[in-house]
Amino acid sequence: MTEFHAATDADGVTTLTWDVPGKSLNVMSLQGLRELEAAVGAALADPAVKGIVITSGKADFGGGMDLAVLAGMREAAGADPAQGLFDGILGIHHLLRRIERAGMDPKTLTGGKPIAAALPGTAAGIALELPLACHRIFAADTPKARIGLPEIRVGLFPGAGGTTRLAWTLGAMAAAPYLLEGRMESPVKMNTAGIVHEVVPPEELLARAKAWVLSAPDIVKPWDRKGFRFPGGAPYSAQGFLTFVGASAMVAGKTMGVYPAARALLSAVYEGAQVPFDTALRIEARWFTQVLLDPSSAAMIRSLFLDKAALEKGANRPALPEAKVRRLGVIGAGMMGAGIAHVAAAAGINVVLIDATEEAAARGQAQIAAALEKAVERRKLTPEAKAGTLARLTVGADVAALQDCDLIVEAVFEDPGVKAEVIARAAAAAPGAVLATNTSTLPVTDLARATPEPERFLGLHFFSPVEKMQLVEVIRGRQTGDAAIAKALDFVRQIRKTPIVVNDARFFYANRCIIPYINEGLRMVGEGVAPALVENGARMAGMPVGPLQLVDETSLDLGARIARATRAALGADYPDDAVDAVLLPMVAAGRLGRKSGAGFYDYANGQRTGLAALHPVAEVQPGVGEVMQRLLMIQALEAVRALEAGVLTDIREGDVGAILGWGFAPWSGGPLSWLDRLGASHAVALAEALAAAHGPRFAPPPLLLAMAATGESFRHRFAPAA
Ligand code: NAD
Repeated sequence: MTEFHAATDADGVTTLTWDVPGKSLNVMSLQGLRELEAAVGAALADPAVKGIVITSGKADFGGGMDLAVLAGMREAAGADPAQGLFDGILGIHHLLRRIERAGMDPKTLTGGKPIAAALPGTAAGIALELPLACHRIFAADTPKARIGLPEIRVGLFPGAGGTTRLAWTLGAMAAAPYLLEGRMESPVKMNTAGIVHEVVPPEELLARAKAWVLSAPDIVKPWDRKGFRFPGGAPYSAQGFLTFVGASAMVAGKTMGVYPAARALLSAVYEGAQVPFDTALRIEARWFTQVLLDPSSAAMIRSLFLDKAALEKGANRPALPEAKVRRLGVIGAGMMGAGIAHVAAAAGINVVLIDATEEAAARGQAQIAAALEKAVERRKLTPEAKAGTLARLTVGADVAALQDCDLIVEAVFEDPGVKAEVIARAAAAAPGAVLATNTSTLPVTDLARATPEPERFLGLHFFSPVEKMQLVEVIRGRQTGDAAIAKALDFVRQIRKTPIVVNDARFFYANRCIIPYINEGLRMVGEGVAPALVENGARMAGMPVGPLQLVDETSLDLGARIARATRAALGADYPDDAVDAVLLPMVAAGRLGRKSGAGFYDYANGQRTGLAALHPVAEVQPGVGEVMQRLLMIQALEAVRALEAGVLTDIREGDVGAILGWGFAPWSGGPLSWLDRLGASHAVALAEALAAAHGPRFAPPPLLLAMAATGESFRHRFAPAA
C-alpha cells in the first residue's frame, strides 16, 4: 500500500490513514481507490477488527478526485466512452456502498462494523463523498478548514454518491446550497448544517472517533430502514412538489440553461428520490456520465481546474529562485490600496500602508478593520485571525516607512503626474524593492520612467473588490525584468490569487475585452433594441452581469472618461460615436449609475428596481440568439486580437483570465475555448455575417482567418509547452 495505510490497535480498531506520497494534499487516484477497497475488505473480513476509522496523514483530509482518473476511464473505454465512464463510476459507487453497508446482513441489517471518518482539516469533493458513506463524521475544530462539495463550480456535480447521500440526508431544499452552489464551510458550520456529526478538539480527533467505533453504535443508514421517508418530502408529496418546482425554477433562473451540470444534478435528485437508494445511485451515475461527456464540462474542467491550477503554480514564472514577499508596501489607502493591504496581511505578510495624510491612511485601516469584523460576525474568520491580520498592518503618511519593503504597490489616483511622483519617492525610499502600479489605464512602460530601475517595475492589476476577485493581471512593461515578474508571481501565490502575465498595451487584457462588451450593449440600446432583451441575452449567453448593469455598477462617468481618453488617443480613427450618443447624454443628465441612484436602471434605497425607459425602442426586435452572438463574439474577437498582438502569450491565460477577470461565460471554458468549440471556419463565417450587418468591428482578425484556412484550433496551434 502506498496511499492508504492500515494499522489495527489493541482494541481492535483499524485506522486507515490516507497519505498520498509526494503531495501536500490528498487527491483520490485509481490506485487510492483500489487500496481503499482492499484495506476496507481486509478489515471487514478480519474477525479481530471491531471497526474502522478513516483519516488522513496530512493537515487536511483531502482535496477531491484527481480529474485525470475520469479522463483515464474515458480513454480506457475506447470506442464507447459513455459505457466506460458509467462502469467506472459504478465501481466507485460499489466501493462506497460497501463501506456504508460495512458487512451487515442485508436482510436483518445486523453484523456490520462501524466506520467513522475523522477529518483533520479541509475535505472537498470525493474527500467528503467518502465520509458521507461512513457512519459518522468527526471533524477537528480548525476554523480554516473548508468542507464541502465544490464540483458544480467546475461544471460537474458530486458523482460518487455525494449528491444522493446529501439530498437523502438533508432533503432537497437544505442540500441545495451545498450541491447547487458548491458551498464550502467550516467544520462548525457543517456541523450546524447536519453534515458533520461532531466537531472535536484537533488533538482528540482520533480518540473520539475510536471511542465511538467501540461504543456499539447503530450504523444503519436511514434509507436502508423500512419506512424511510425522503426528508422535506418526496417529489410526489405536496411539500416535495413545491420544493422541486421551486428548485427547478431557481436552477433555470440562475443558469439560464447553459450549465448542464446544475440541471443534471437536479434531475438526479428528483428521479432518485422516487426509487430505492441503490437505484438512485445508478441514476446519479447516469447523469454524471452525461455531464462528463458534455463539451462544456470538459472545457470548464480544463480552464477552471487544470489550467487555473497550472497558472497558480507558476506555469509562466521565469525559472529563478523563490522570491516570496517579506514586507509589502502599499501607497494609496483608498478602495484598491486598502483591499490589497487587507488580502496581503490576511495571507501572513507584514504590510505598510501609506497615504498622503495620516487621516487618509487611518481611513484605509478602518476600512480593513470593518471588513474583518464583518467576516468575524459571519463566522468566516476567528477573532484571533482578525487580530493577527491587523497586527501585521502598519499605516502612516511617511514614505520613509517603506524602506524595508521588498515589494511596493502603488494605488493612488489614476493621474500620471501623481503616480510618477509617488513612484519616484518609493524608489528612493526602498532602493532594491520591486515597484508595481495598480493602474487600469496608464501604460506601465511610461510610468516606469519615474524610477531609475525600470527593470524592477511592472503592473499588478487587481480587480474590485480585491477581497473577492480572484484574478491579478501581472503587466510586463517593455523594460520589466524577469526577477520582477518572478517576485510578482510569488506574491500573487502568497495571497492565493490567480495570475496571468500579459504584455503592456492599452487596457491590458481584461479591460480591453470588457469595454467592447459594454459598448456593444450600449450600441444596441442606441439602435432601439429593448434594454431588457440586451440584459437577458447577456445572461442567457452565460454572462453573470448584463452590459447595462455592468456600466451602472462601474459608473457611466468612468465610461465617459475612458471614452474621452480613447478619442484623444485615436483621433479621427475613433470608432465609438454610436456608444457616446447613448452614454454622454445620460452622464449630462446625472444618470451616472448605481452610485447616483439612476442609470440604465432605476434604484430605490440602493436596490435596483428595474430598467428605466430612456431610449426609443424599435418596432422590430432582433432574435435573442443574435443578441447573444453579438455580445459573446465582440469579446472573443478582442481576445484573439490580444493574442495576435502579443499582449497574451498563453491561451490558458486568455481563457482563465476572461472567466475570473470579467466573468466571460464560464460554461464555455473561456473565449478561445468557445471559438474552438465553434471551429475556426464557423467562427469566421459568424463574424463575417455580424460584420456585414453591424460593422467592421466584427471583421475576423487575420489570425482567425489563417486558422480557418488550415482548420486549426487555438488549443492545437498554441498548445502550451508540457
Ligand atoms: P481611491 O480614490 O479610492 O484611492 C486613491 C487613494 O490614493 C486615496 O486614498 C488618496 O488619498 C491616495 N493618494 C492620492 N495621492 C496620493 C499620494 N501622492 N500619496 C499617497 N496617497 C495618495 O482610488 P481607487 O479606486 O482605490 O484606485 C486606485 C488605483 O487603482 C487607480 O490607479 C485605479 O485606476 C486603480 N484601479 C481601480 C479599480 C477600481 O475598480 N476602482 C480597479 C483596478 C485598478
